Amino acid sequence: MTRRVFRYVPFSVEQDATAEPEYEAHCVSGDETECGVESGAYSDPGPVEEWQRRHTQETGHRRYRRNFGDYAVVRPLACGGAS
Ligand SMILES: [Zn+2]
Repeated sequence: MTRRVFRYVPFSVEQDATAEPEYEAHCVSGDETECGVESGAYSDPGPVEEWQRRHTQETGHRRYRRNFGDYAVVRPLACGGAS
């Protein structure tokens, strides 16, 4: 039996500060088909919540699916370049 030996290198996982996170939501209200209207993506949750309030006020829809996305960078910790 062969074994592959990987050298263990510790990594850190950090949020990429150069890329803005994204917040968005879409309406999942509706009986048989979802309404599906989308807020669009924002770098801040505020406008998304504002959009939800407005959409609820206009349509009475109250259920949303929210998505959050960000970017991550993995860096080796050992002998790290101080960048
Ligand atoms: Zn809706």
